[in-house]
Amino acid sequence: MKVIEHYERATEPLLSYEIIPPRRGGSVAQVLEIVEALAPYDPPFIDVTSHSAEASYEEMPDGSIRRQVKRKRPGTLGLCAAIQHRFGIDAVPHVLCRGFTREETEDALIELNYLGIHNVLAVRGDDTGTPKVERPERTVNDYACDLVGQIAAMNRGEYLDEGLLDATPTDFCIGVGGYPEKHEEAPNMTWDVLHLKRKVDAGADYVVTQMFFETQHYIDFVERCRDVGITVPIVPGLKILTTRRHLRSLPRTFKVEIPESLAAEVEAARDEHIPSIGVEWARQQAEALMDAGAPGIHFYIMSDPQHVLRVVEPLRA
Ligand code: FAD
Repeated sequence: MKVIEHYERATEPLLSYEIIPPRRGGSVAQVLEIVEALAPYDPPFIDVTSHSAEASYEEMPDGSIRRQVKRKRPGTLGLCAAIQHRFGIDAVPHVLCRGFTREETEDALIELNYLGIHNVLAVRGDDTGTPKVERPERTVNDYACDLVGQIAAMNRGEYLDEGLLDATPTDFCIGVGGYPEKHEEAPNMTWDVLHLKRKVDAGADYVVTQMFFETQHYIDFVERCRDVGITVPIVPGLKILTTRRHLRSLPRTFKVEIPESLAAEVEAARDEHIPSIGVEWARQQAEALMDAGAPGIHFYIMSDPQHVLRVVEPLRA
């Protein structure tokens, strides 16, 4: 079923999850264990992130440096097929602009369509320092709104090769990302929200937000979005802070703020108590978000679902 249909039919807020593929060479078994752990909680859908190629540098025995470009975490499509067909849970692969040509994206979407996967989350991706070598006959999507436009065109049966005689329309439900604390590159919130509107106008069916730790950020963001005419569901994304390291790594990586009271509590706590602080913060946030009318909560899971399940269990009780 489409993600948007899940939201339309829901009688209570939906709890959904996001996982990442294993590292290149790693086993899929570990990731499928996460899905197995989530399955008893009837997730309406599970997202699987996508990762473009990155450059790494290796020193050779003669002292020279070898530059290698690799996708560290391939496997999004295969993992989604396993989730959908082995567990009967709708899978949402993320598709990216950065690192992929429009032609590769079209092929990937055809692949997904054949696999019976009709949901995607369209994001631009971050700069990996390895831009796709552009050739005149290949084209790229610069922003997520361009990628949404490409997917929406395929939904109308318009492929890149305009001469196709049997261009079967696809039927993708399209999600996009939103930023309650503003995307780092946007000069201001008004600009960012107007660009979010462009993604919705291009065909996005719903928005999932970047993580945030202050509920008011989401409430203000939704209000701004509604003010400019964005009417689709806006689903808050939550991440549970579980280590002292998160105090610095989450702001650095995701450009989000950790509220003073949470940071102070974590700073003063013994290491073994930190996960409980993060779980309690997320539980209170989830309750407040639901009270504020959020259509669901989207939990970001890296490799361990246990902390998220400690938040989910009381919410479902
Ligand atoms: P866009 O919507 O393209 O916006 C990027 C910036 O450009 C914003 O500042 C926006 O205001 C501005 N902008 C947009 N359109 C225009 C325009 N036409 N002209 C000028 N400026 C414009 N990254 C991954 O690598 N893999 C993932 O799987 C992944 N999943 C994600 C899931 C969610 C829910 C979210 C919120 C983020 C995810 N990301 C992922 C991270 C994301 O790729 C980065 O945050 C990226 O920097 C921006 O992506 P976007 O789709 O929001 O970009």
